[in-house]
Amino acid sequence: MLASWCVGEGVLPDFLGLEPKQFRALQARYFKGIRITGRATSGRRPDFSRMLEREDLLGMLMAHAGTADREETHWIAGILVAGCLGDDHLWQDLGLWSRVELSGLIAHNFPTLAAKNTQDMKWKKFLYKQLCEAEGIRACRAPSCEVCVDYRVCFGPEE
Ligand code: SF4
Repeated sequence: MLASWCVGEGVLPDFLGLEPKQFRALQARYFKGIRITGRATSGRRPDFSRMLEREDLLGMLMAHAGTADREETHWIAGILVAGCLGDDHLWQDLGLWSRVELSGLIAHNFPTLAAKNTQDMKWKKFLYKQLCEAEGIRACRAPSCEVCVDYRVCFGPEE
């Protein structure tokens, strides 16, 4: 993700979407001695104003964290949420190379959340659906996915 971000791929904004303090801690731990400015080469700036659910998404992810006391898990959660600002598939917005990589990342860091995606729903759709369910909101137009005209939007191939 960092390599993609450095060459302007994906949507991750400045500091990978993390707080500057978090970004510097990540850099010091894993990329010491490598000069990374923190500015997104893509020129994107964080626009979390259009993301009212940011804190809810972070909280939901961390509730499923395999190791909530690790800073790295907080960093990954922050980066995932920043990726949700984009309009493409989440793995593309994050600058990953395939959906398989994203599925592995989520399973490793948020195992109980990954286990809930038994129907292999598209990840961005799945994350937002978890929020809706937690709030008791039913945003779907159909009574079930099986009879929904939007089925391919939620479950189609993510390539
Ligand atoms: S397929 Fe339809 S019913 Fe199922 S989550 Fe998507 S929008 Fe909702």
